[in-house]
Amino acid sequence: MKSTTHIFGCIADPIDHVKAPTLYSKVFLERKINAIMIPVHVNEKNLGEVINSLKKIKNFRGLTVTIPHKVNVLKYCDELEDTADQTGAVNWIKFNNNKVIGNNFDGIGFVRGLLNKNYIINDKRVSIFGAGGAGMAISFALQSYNLKELKIINRDQNKLNKLIKRLKNHFPKTTLIGENFLNYDISKSDIIINATSVGMKSDTTIPFKVLNTKQNSLIAEIIMEPELTFLLKEAKKLNKKIHLGKYMLESQIDLVGEYFNLW
Ligand code: NAP
Repeated sequence: MKSTTHIFGCIADPIDHVKAPTLYSKVFLERKINAIMIPVHVNEKNLGEVINSLKKIKNFRGLTVTIPHKVNVLKYCDELEDTADQTGAVNWIKFNNNKVIGNNFDGIGFVRGLLNKNYIINDKRVSIFGAGGAGMAISFALQSYNLKELKIINRDQNKLNKLIKRLKNHFPKTTLIGENFLNYDISKSDIIINATSVGMKSDTTIPFKVLNTKQNSLIAEIIMEPELTFLLKEAKKLNKKIHLGKYMLESQIDLVGEYFNLW
């Protein structure tokens, strides 16, 4: 570290599960970028005060924002980039001349992760479990592709309806199907994504039965802890193609670096 080092933070509560500080600091070192990312453990009550203070530190460039702050942080942003505006959630903020600018790389990170592993998205039937922040970001990012079908499955019907309405407002031509956990069909889906928090940490439940998916389908996770969730273990047992949750975060790094003019 030098006196001119750029500081980035990862703001969360709880903080113990976050992977970004280790990951980003390692990349900065490997790419010889004079920057570091530190964990910033802040509860909701102090979020605004902390952001307003950090933006005054001249070499503090920005923060990656995670659970539970992605939506609350919006009210402390002076400007929003398109993806944050569309999804109503922020996973990065940039400090720029005392201004706080909100952005969201989650959806594009997931999509880039698939493309980096040479999966084709155009012309596919995609099912997403989860209409929370991550499910919403991925659904929006997928609108740039020519999908045969996009199905979103969520437990809370109200939240699902809100997401569908939001997507249709921004993309009136979208072909969307919303289903709930009691009644869904994923037997024709080519890519099935778990964007719920089911399977996190020591949770041994799975969001859907892998047996109900077709032979050549891809089972994609966005959970990073554990790397191999019960869902992915089940998929592996049945000789399915699997896609790890960590690729979503890793694929955001290049985009974030470009956004901050680091490379
Ligand atoms: P969120 O906004 O809180 O949404 C949680 C989602 O999970 C909702 O759709 C919720 O459904 C569903 N859910 C939770 N418990 C459930 C259960 N028992 N049965 C069925 N559905 C359930 O969280 P998020 O920000 O979208 O994050 C979701 C997961 O993605 C987390 O594990 C997070 O760590 C991970 N994530 C990973 C990355 C990455 O870069 N890899 C990025 C962002 C998030 P209801 O609406 O019915 O409650």
